[in-house]
Amino acid sequence: MATYAIKSCNLCGIRKPQPEMERVEKEVVTGSSKSKITTGNVLGYAMGNKMSQNKVHRNIFANNKRQYKRKRTVWSCFECSGRNDRIRAEQARVEEVPKTQAEKDVEFREAIPGLIFICVIVVAIMVWMA
Ligand SMILES: [Zn+2]
Repeated sequence: MATYAIKSCNLCGIRKPQPEMERVEKEVVTGSSKSKITTGNVLGYAMGNKMSQNKVHRNIFANNKRQYKRKRTVWSCFECSGRNDRIRAEQARVEEVPKTQAEKDVEFREAIPGLIFICVIVVAIMVWMA
C-alpha cells in the first residue's frame, strides 16, 4: 500500500494526503510602496515648490499605493482550489445527457396503463352515448 506525504492546505489549513491536494498559484503581497511625504515636501508645498506640490497632491488625492505581488505555488485542498466545484459541474453536465431510446421505451411502457385507462373511459362514454 502506497503511503503519501501529508500536505496542509495553504488556504484553509486542512491536512490531507498528497493525492487529495493540488498545486495552485497564489498571489502573495510582498510589500507596498508609498512615497512618503517628508517635512521638506510640506515646507516646499507651503513655499510653492512645484515638485513638492505634485508629490503632496499625489499622496493625498491619487491613491498611488502600489502593491507588489508575487506568484507563489502552494498546496491547496480540492475544496479551496475549486476542483470540487469543477467536478460537480462535470457531473451536472453528465446528468444532462439526452435520454437514450431504451430509456424512452421504458417511459412509454410505463405510460401504457394510463393510456389504456383513457381509452376505456372514451369507449365507455361512446357506448353510453350510443
Ligand atoms: Zn483548503
